[in-house]
Amino acid sequence: MKSFEKSGFHRAWAEISLGALKNNVEKCRSLLSDKNALMCVVKANAYGHGAHIVAPFLENECGADWFAVSNLVEAAELREMGITGEILILGWTPPENALQLLEYDIIQAITDLEYAESLSAHTPKGEKIRCHIAIDTGMTRIGLRGDGAADCAEKIFRLPNLSVEGIFTHLSVADSPDPEDIEYTKSQAEKLYDLKKELNRRLITVEHAHFLNSAGCAYHFDPRSTLARFGIMLYGLMPNASYPLPVELEPVMELKAKVAQVKTVEAGVDVSYGRTYTTSKETRLAVVTIGYADGYPRLLSGKAEVLIKGRRAKVVGRICMDQLMIDVSDIPGVAPGDTVTLFGRDGDEIVTADQLAELIGTVGYEIVCGISPRVQRIEIRD
Ligand SMILES: *Cc1c(COP(=O)(O)O)cnc(C)c1O
Repeated sequence: MKSFEKSGFHRAWAEISLGALKNNVEKCRSLLSDKNALMCVVKANAYGHGAHIVAPFLENECGADWFAVSNLVEAAELREMGITGEILILGWTPPENALQLLEYDIIQAITDLEYAESLSAHTPKGEKIRCHIAIDTGMTRIGLRGDGAADCAEKIFRLPNLSVEGIFTHLSVADSPDPEDIEYTKSQAEKLYDLKKELNRRLITVEHAHFLNSAGCAYHFDPRSTLARFGIMLYGLMPNASYPLPVELEPVMELKAKVAQVKTVEAGVDVSYGRTYTTSKETRLAVVTIGYADGYPRLLSGKAEVLIKGRRAKVVGRICMDQLMIDVSDIPGVAPGDTVTLFGRDGDEIVTADQLAELIGTVGYEIVCGISPRVQRIEIRD
């Protein structure tokens, strides 16, 4: 990072509110019983928020002792930043990386029997890789599925170089209020616990069995899930933007940029690539220092509003790679250097990543995960 970049706030940046994060951890914990431990899902650079900011704060100041990531690189990064809590890799790791799993003391998800055998074979004699077996109960992603699952799981438990500490499954429609989906979610949980019972019958102890994600905790809480894998709600976003949550969360990330130039143009002037927007009257435009290369989606062209001086302004014309234009005709006094909030709060006005997602048919997850590396993450201590 360049020295002049250290102060942040220079072009396009994301403010990460530790106060909001702390609030969300407390609200998430309030949904749990003393039987469920909070597992903080910090994959994908903590959903784009900056794992280097989020994970140490969760461990040191929120008492989090369980983390989940998607892969070995993310797991190793957590260890290198000093995280000492348990780390579960939710996705696939090449069996050839068995030694790194041992070195960093990481718990690995097991996709199927063949993978487990390969991982065990790549592990030195006398060593054991810690793992949780993924069970596919209806997501149809990784995991053992069907009637053979118990036999496979038993074989995996008996492999010489694995230490199976848990089984888990992932819910596919926990964020849906549809009655059929509610039944589906229930059946997913029951399949997991039926398997646990079957393994117990075979004298295999399963220390952890878990299935709750954010939506599971919010809408289908179950004290039997020994771990509660919270992702999106930690960051103050909603699993489903149109299904109210039982707790009040605060978005952790605010995305901001600056005004580079202000200009007044007459009626009939074309703005940006493709001439998709033409002014219908004299218009005051501000050019803003952010674009789709920063992860502000180009699909929002002509749809989104931003905040400036506590007011809403429309994005007009196509969003460019590094810049975009907004209409500030009704907002007096806008000048170069002013701060523009792409999502976040400015005065009484709020734009959320969930709202932007709705405009373009996606989810808030994708908006925050998509904020690109050139946008500096700046922690805000409130
Ligand atoms: C990403 C992920 C989670 C977290 O999901 P949220 O909806 O963000 O709470 C939990 N479990 C698994 C297996 C995941 O992949």
